[in-house]
Amino acid sequence: MTDVKNSAAKCLKIRLTDRPGSDSCEFRKKSRHYAGEETCMASWNIETKCVQGGYRPGNGEPREVPIIQSTTFKYDTSSDMAKLFDLEASGYFYTRLQNPTNDYVAAKIAEMEGGTAGMLTSSGQAANFYSVFNIANAGDHVISSASIYGGTFNLFNVTMRKMGIDFTFVSPDCTEEELDAAFRPNTKAVFGESIANPALTVLDFDKFAKAAHAHGVPLIVDNTFPTPVNCRPIEFGADIVTHSTTKYMDGHGSAVGGAIVDAGKFDWMAYADKFPGLTTPDDSYHGITYAEKFGLGGAFITKATSQLMRDFGSIQAPQNAFLLNLGLESLHVRMKQHCENGLALAKFLSGHPMVDKVSYPGLPGDAYYEVAQKYMPNGTCGVVSFEVKGGRAAAEKFMQNLRIFAIETHVADARSCCLHPASSTHRQMTDEELLAAGVPGSLVRMSCGLENTGDLIEDVAGALEAIMK
Ligand SMILES: *Cc1c(COP(=O)(O)O)cnc(C)c1O
Repeated sequence: MTDVKNSAAKCLKIRLTDRPGSDSCEFRKKSRHYAGEETCMASWNIETKCVQGGYRPGNGEPREVPIIQSTTFKYDTSSDMAKLFDLEASGYFYTRLQNPTNDYVAAKIAEMEGGTAGMLTSSGQAANFYSVFNIANAGDHVISSASIYGGTFNLFNVTMRKMGIDFTFVSPDCTEEELDAAFRPNTKAVFGESIANPALTVLDFDKFAKAAHAHGVPLIVDNTFPTPVNCRPIEFGADIVTHSTTKYMDGHGSAVGGAIVDAGKFDWMAYADKFPGLTTPDDSYHGITYAEKFGLGGAFITKATSQLMRDFGSIQAPQNAFLLNLGLESLHVRMKQHCENGLALAKFLSGHPMVDKVSYPGLPGDAYYEVAQKYMPNGTCGVVSFEVKGGRAAAEKFMQNLRIFAIETHVADARSCCLHPASSTHRQMTDEELLAAGVPGSLVRMSCGLENTGDLIEDVAGALEAIMK
């Protein structure tokens, strides 16, 4: 009946009608939102994708992404609905699995990353869980960089181990031989963060992608910190990209969320025995085989939606997806200021007598400067870590004396904030694990927001002076 509903339902084709051989332009054109588009959005630059990607309203439709605040969707016949349940037709039936607002925003993020399909999740944790669990089952094994977000480390090392999945954690700086030696016959994926939170190590994409592909498994990259504005992992060999959209993408500390994007490049059928979930029939959908029916570009996300979202239900609220989209529209403008503030703070700290060590991959001389220049030459992120002289106690005193940087369990939004990882996000780790993750007790993580650069430096200078008193 209403245009919004009908066009929204058609938008699902972005995901479900993707077939082998249909490039992203082709399947977009099948949707009314893209009909008549002269230029393919794939050729747009990142700034334009941030603003206009994903949602293309038709004649007389809302200019802004509509919030479809509905749990359910109405159909004329039960056979119409049966086709949806068999994944034979595209459309929505229940928001626990899919919602049009989410799909518009997921399509934007997929375009920004240069992927073929995307989905939103309720959080970054859910995105990382789904990205691995979609291809690894009990009895399988996954290799992960040890330098990852504490919550992800716990998810892998504790919770997913309880589910029977084994993990080997490797140093992001391991040699090719060490990485190679970590593989087992039952290894199903390699995981890393493009810029690790909070250690700020930068992933050597060439090394990790080469090893993963040599062993016939995909590389999954959490790209939360640089965002696709500064780094697009798919261009460097990543097969699946995940996000905590809670960070820069939303950017205002308003909505927890996550996203998964498929590069559409990994050939599941070529390693059919490794990935039976994608390459053999799914009885819960009358025996469809994802990799056959949805092809390279659509299999991974369709399976994650129709199995994992169905069973776990970690859907993002459409209201949050709307807020996320507002954040995405200005992401390219904000990232510049975050990076400018981050670099200025890193430079200031690196010359300060109360500071032992500064980590900022955009700072010349940083251990990851060269790698960062290779994969994210236009900027990294606004997060700077440093070790205060005087250990844990000095770190606490420093933080108490900040005025602009607020103490928060958060990072990467408009307001500057800081955190002591060893006593918060990484609290569950042992001392050895903390060191392996690059997070000693003296480490403070500063997240530069969008405030004036000079004001931020002055705030930090004053708090460092207070320790000395
Ligand atoms: C915050 C974060 C996560 C977890 O995301 P939530 O949205 O908090 O669930 C995962 N990865 C990275 C790199 C993060 O910074």
